Amino acid sequence: MEHFICTGGCGGVSGTPGVCQAESCPLHGLDLKPCGCTDGEHADVKAAAELEERRKEEEDSD
Ligand SMILES: [Zn+2]
Ligand SMILES: [Zn+2]
Repeated sequence: MEHFICTGGCGGVSGTPGVCQAESCPLHGLDLKPCGCTDGEHADVKAAAELEERRKEEEDSD
C-alpha cells in the first residue's frame, strides 16, 4: 500500500499526503514523498533522495 515518507532522517511515515511534522528535521514542513515499498525500508525513495542531495551539493560547490 502506498505511503508517504520523510527523507530528512526523522523517519516520518504517513498513510496520507502531507508534510514532515518533526520540528528537529531538516525537511520539517516540506512535502512527504510517496513510496510503494512493502518491506518498510523505503529503499527506492531514500536512494532517489540521496542522489538528489548529491546533485544539489555538486551544483552548490560550483
Ligand atoms: Zn522529517
Ligand atoms: Zn516505503
